Amino acid sequence: MRSPSFKPTLPRKPPFSTQTTIQNHSDVCSPSPETRFISLIHVSETTCHLKQTHAQITLHGLSQNSHVITQLISTCSLFKSIDYALSIFRHSREPNLFIFNSLIRALSDNACFAGSISHFSLMLRLSIRPDRLTFPFVLKSAASLSEYGLGGALHASIVRLGLELDSFVRTSLANMYVKFGFLDHALQLFEETPDRNKAENVLLWNVLINGCCKVGDLEMASKLFEAMPDRRSIGSWNSLINGFLQKGDVERAMVLFDRMPEKNVISWTTMVAGFSQNGDYQRALSTFYRMLDEGVKPNDYTVISALSACARIGALDAGIQIHEYVLGNGFRINRDLGNALVDMYSKCGEIECASRVFCQIKEKDLLTWSVMISGWATHGCCGEALRCFEEMKSAGIYPDEVVFLAVLMACSHSGLVDQGLHVFNSMCFDYSITPTVKHYTCIVDLFVRAGHLEEALKFIESMPIEPDFVIWGTLFCACRAHKNIEMAELASKRLLQLEPKHPGSYVFLSNIYAGAKRWEDVEKVRNAMKIRGIDKPPGWSFIEVGGHVHRFTASDQAHTCAEEIYRKLGEITACARAQGYMPDTDWVLHNIEEEEKEDALGSHSEKLALAFGLVSTSSPAVIRIVKNLRVCGDCHSLMKHVSKISQRDIVLRDIKRFHHFKDGACTCMDYW
Ligand code: ZN
Ligand code: ZN
Repeated sequence: MRSPSFKPTLPRKPPFSTQTTIQNHSDVCSPSPETRFISLIHVSETTCHLKQTHAQITLHGLSQNSHVITQLISTCSLFKSIDYALSIFRHSREPNLFIFNSLIRALSDNACFAGSISHFSLMLRLSIRPDRLTFPFVLKSAASLSEYGLGGALHASIVRLGLELDSFVRTSLANMYVKFGFLDHALQLFEETPDRNKAENVLLWNVLINGCCKVGDLEMASKLFEAMPDRRSIGSWNSLINGFLQKGDVERAMVLFDRMPEKNVISWTTMVAGFSQNGDYQRALSTFYRMLDEGVKPNDYTVISALSACARIGALDAGIQIHEYVLGNGFRINRDLGNALVDMYSKCGEIECASRVFCQIKEKDLLTWSVMISGWATHGCCGEALRCFEEMKSAGIYPDEVVFLAVLMACSHSGLVDQGLHVFNSMCFDYSITPTVKHYTCIVDLFVRAGHLEEALKFIESMPIEPDFVIWGTLFCACRAHKNIEMAELASKRLLQLEPKHPGSYVFLSNIYAGAKRWEDVEKVRNAMKIRGIDKPPGWSFIEVGGHVHRFTASDQAHTCAEEIYRKLGEITACARAQGYMPDTDWVLHNIEEEEKEDALGSHSEKLALAFGLVSTSSPAVIRIVKNLRVCGDCHSLMKHVSKISQRDIVLRDIKRFHHFKDGACTCMDYW
């Protein structure tokens, strides 16, 4: 980008200035046509209204009135009708400073940064001198495009025009340097600000605090925050709180939040989103409810964060309540909110509700389709997933690798080998998407689930990328299940050759050894895990009862109803045994005696959640459980029996998919 040059001259002709027009009419009692049209512009609700007003303006001969044009452009910007704003600009015969300012701002606000900069250049070519309202938006555009050279040139021009002490311009400059990642430039600018304790410079402080938080220098951010004169704005608090949350320091964020003299919707949203990002979904939801109790109206982003927390822990009741709140409080279900609702219903096991919301979303984007297709896939509804995928392509949305993965998963869950291979080939050849290891894993999964072990092996050996631990693991498990000892040995050899890199693989490795009853090797792997500080990820299950989410870990005794839960668990296990349920100790894979194995199985977190669901709710309420790992075969088998004995529907979401247990059977057909 060429650095702009300034010719500090006056505009060629006195522009069609606002002041002139207003003065001309100031002696008239009834509002002037100009004032009347400007109020009409302001009450426009859509671009269509605005166009009608614009037509009237042209009829009344005011289409070249600079004040009117400025207001038209600003309103177009609010409606995101940038093309219309540009056409108004092109029809203005003598664009002046005000018109340029409104257009440059409109372009920058609508992320048309290059356009904003090119109109700034045009303005200079027309010898219109920029002012304090021009620079902030050009600086923002330069920052967004990472135009360092232009940024420096703009800074020089600002100094030349004597605008560097203007707090609006200075704050924008600092903000640009923060966005460039030049925090020291921003700090220098801050140090050189003569009256930085003045009220008008609060924003400058906030930009600096934000900048420090962004690079993770929270000590510097806190120092600035504490040094701030008594003028800390809510924004200052919000920035620092967000900084702590981004760094994962939830506790310090909480302390600051509670210290805040006044909180706004952004403060609350920051906390709800922050808890959610840090995996504390229960506190995200309780903070959301606290916000409503205190009479603060959430914005779209707060609601989306709360819904995402519901999705993660399967809190359906809370999700429904939030949906009702949204409907009853004038929210528009736009695409982002719609996507969040579809995701929540789908992850909470209500795929039909998800589909209903999905149909109501008018402007579906790739994410909308992706969420819906993944939803059908995890619910094992392959036909719907494929139908949805076709619809998406017909709607002109270009699929990406994430959507393909969901479609492949759907095929794999339903054992549709030919269909899956067809989709895989289409991804590679029709869409030129390079498959990742996840896609290859899906295909291997597809083969082995259908019992095509030879094809799976051939496929693995022909892969252009190195097969990883998960792929060999998938084959190994399938060989074991299909009792193909020869191939199992080959797979386990490959597995052992690969240096395990993540905790999952250590656990897996120890299970392979345990399966082969090689206890010494199991010990070795365990010791290696201990030495490297790797812990098996703890399993937990969530269940929502009466609006509260309860969390269980294996052998959990912490729940207030623990005694009752274990009694119920004993009772249902006994009933299930009478019906033919046999604890499947293959799933324990520890070097322990058979009876102890049964005990270890007996208190898996999902079983505790199930027992709690049975004691605390009654028929016909569906028991909904979310598990963070894969459900084991033994828990799966018990759930099937319990669904029949108690005549209750049980919906379990594990890390792979949904299981709907009903009358002794599961929708996964024991295939997961
Ligand atoms: Zn289990
Ligand atoms: Zn199942």
